[in-house]
This record gives sequence, C-alpha cells and structure tokens, in this order.
Amino acid sequence: MAFITGPMRKHVNGHKELTSHAEVVKVDAGSKVLIPLINMGSTTVEVLVKEGDRVKVGTKVAVRNDHFKVPLYSSVSGTVKGIEKVMHASLRPVDHLAIENDGKYEEEAPLKPIDPNSASVEELVDFMMEAGIVGCGGAGFPTYIKYKGIKGIETLIINAVECEPYITADYKQMHESLNELKVGVSTMKKMCKAAKAYVCIKETKKDFIPTLIETFKEFNDIEVKAVPDVYPMGWERTLVYEVTKKRYDKLPSEIGVVVNNASTAIAFAHAMLCGMPIVKKMVTVSGDAVNTPCNVEVPVGVSAAEVIKACGGYTAEDVLLIAGGPMMGKTITSDAFVITPYSNALTVLKNTPVEQVPCLRCGKCSDHCPAGLQPVRINNAEKAKNIDALKKLDVMSCIECGLCTYICPSKIDVTEGVRRAKRYMSLQKK
Ligand code: SF4
Ligand code: SF4
Repeated sequence: MAFITGPMRKHVNGHKELTSHAEVVKVDAGSKVLIPLINMGSTTVEVLVKEGDRVKVGTKVAVRNDHFKVPLYSSVSGTVKGIEKVMHASLRPVDHLAIENDGKYEEEAPLKPIDPNSASVEELVDFMMEAGIVGCGGAGFPTYIKYKGIKGIETLIINAVECEPYITADYKQMHESLNELKVGVSTMKKMCKAAKAYVCIKETKKDFIPTLIETFKEFNDIEVKAVPDVYPMGWERTLVYEVTKKRYDKLPSEIGVVVNNASTAIAFAHAMLCGMPIVKKMVTVSGDAVNTPCNVEVPVGVSAAEVIKACGGYTAEDVLLIAGGPMMGKTITSDAFVITPYSNALTVLKNTPVEQVPCLRCGKCSDHCPAGLQPVRINNAEKAKNIDALKKLDVMSCIECGLCTYICPSKIDVTEGVRRAKRYMSLQKK
C-alpha cells in the first residue's frame, strides 16, 4: 500500500478571512430538532424514549449499541414526537428522533462532573464514552476507543490545523475555550500516558500562536507546533509524518501516536467540567453564496436551512451546498439535513458552470495525490467497471481529499470518479 508518496504540499486558497474574525452567531433551534440516529455509518441505535416523553437539554435519548457505545443526547427541552426518516449529511436517508422544542432550554446534566486530576485513567475513559465524545473534526469516530486499554503511546498530537478552505470553527472555538482546550489536552495526555503532546496549528496563524503558547506554558511536555500551510496537512497521516517523521500502516498507535482534534479535546473538557455532552456545535457557514459568512453556535439537530437563514440566507438562486468544506465535504441537493455532533461546516458556493475538456494526460492528479494513487487511472477503471484494475490501483486508500479535482487543468471532477469507484468496490464486496 502506498502512502504519502505524492508531494502532499499544495497550498490552496483558504478564504479563512471571511469568518476568522467575524462574531460568533448563536442560533436557536426552531420548533423542532431532529437527532440523527446514526454514528459513523452505523444505524444500530437503541432509542431510549418514546413518543410523548418529556426531555430536557442533556437527556439521553438513544445509544449506538453495537461494537461501539455512543450515547446520543437531546439538544432542546420539549416533547418527543417520534421517528422521521430524513436525508443525512452522509447523503443517505436516516432515522432521526423528532423532538418538539418548547423554547425553554431546560437542562439536566446527564453526567456527574469529574476531576481529571484525581480520576483514574479507566474512570476517564468510561466518562468519555458516557459523554458520547466523538471526533468533532468531521469524522465522528468514538473517541474513547483511542484510549481504552491503550499501551506504548509516546506522542499525543492535537490537530488544530484545519486545512480545509473556508473552515475556521476550530480556530474560533479555541479562541473562546482556552481553558477547556488546556484541560482537554492535558487529560488526554494523561489518558494515553504519552511522554509528549503537540498542539499543531498552521504557521500562518501568527496572531494566535503566542496565545496558545501562553496557554500551555505551565506544561514542559506540551508543545505548540506550527506546521506548514499546505493541504492536506490536517489529514492524520500527513500530520503524524510532519511531527514524528514516521509512517504507519493502519493506525497511528502502531508507531506510538494518538491523534485527536482540538475541538474534540474542548468538548471532552466541557463534559468533564459541566457534566454536559455535545448538545451544540460550532459550525462555520461560509462561501461566496451565503449573505453573512460567520461561525455559528447551534444546537445539534437544527437543519442546515435554519442555520443558513440565520446567516442571512443564500445570495444566489443556484448554489452548491456542501456539508463540510469544499475539498472533502459532500454536496447535498436539499438543505433539510441537520447539524450533527461532528458537523464542522456548511459551505455555500455559487454554482458556476465549468467548462470541462478531455484529460490532458498531464499526470498532475497522480503527482499530487497524498495517498500515492493514480486518480485518472482509477477513473478509467471505474468507467470500464474493471474490478481487478481497481483493486490493483488500491482505490480504497483514497481519503477523498479533493486535491485531484482541485489540481486538474481539464476541470474534470476526478475525485467524484474515485468516489464512484469506491462505492462500486464496496457494492461488489457485499
Ligand atoms: S481524492 Fe484524489 S488526490 Fe485525494 S486521496 Fe483520493 S485520489 Fe488522491
Ligand atoms: S490532472 Fe486532469 S488532465 Fe491531468 S491527468 Fe489528471 S485527470 Fe487528466
């Protein structure tokens, strides 16, 4: 398997200035929220409430109950109305728990706050699981799995790189929650028994790096590390290599590394200090087709339509609405999908037609692929439905970073072809 054989050093225009210094807008839920009954593609979710039940902000309403345990919590107070099937940000119809919002936001902290200094590692891992902490950088992976029974870890990497264009949610959240960031990072370091932790941020964040250094100055073993402003520096493999100069096969733990996102550390600390799980999210709403680009703080389960309305609405008739950033996010044709505990951005772009020309065979897509793939050959194999060729081309290693489309001078959506090939391979496996 080829990893990081491409140059993986492409500066892409960040457009971060649209939101990085704008005020955070607090968005309330409307008359109803929809809590998605899904985690990381798994819909093996047990619902713990029934129609007519009263719930509060923080009431445990469901739990993913297969090989992973991930509780889901209500983000409003009100009345359970039942299950609705709605398009999810992952582009598939998924059951959602509908809760009528009474607008009072009465809270019940479902967890007893825990002192990270006196608690044992096992208690902290259990707490992390009960709090339903998942990767907040868009992945949604249950975080406790990275720490449960983990041994031989030397390095904890906190990913605050946020390399996707337009997205500034982590940056804003760190600004607003420095104490939580400090508590979250130091506790995660304790949990994985790492000798050293690095908080990694782009070197271009010159205004914020001194604040971060000041935040962690009491720790000899937590270092703020400035990393190059290239894409996809926030991809786990790229970042691990940048920090350790080591490569791994499947998981960073193979080389003694654990990686977590900065906003995940903040969410974990918030739960430890207040007993409240992730019931609201910081989400970047940006792009050239939304009236007021900004970061919003919004309850989980609020629709993209409501969030965009709170940002002044669309500025064009024909837009591309992307759940996530423009490189790795998914374009969705309806804005009815809702904010999840791991949403980090809504990107709204004018749908400007691009004139595609036939492949020039320039090889740029292969040269720049950070996973060392040959995207154009994958596209051709997918068109020919040549499963053997797709296997040889290692299509499933694609991380859908979007760089092959970005780089293509012929304006071919190469990434979409690779995604189709991955779907085709998955279907063939089934
Ligand atoms: S999206 Fe394209 S460039 Fe990115 S990993 Fe996949 S094939 Fe490579
Ligand atoms: S970058 Fe575009 S034009 Fe160049 S080889 Fe790849 S698909 Fe063809």
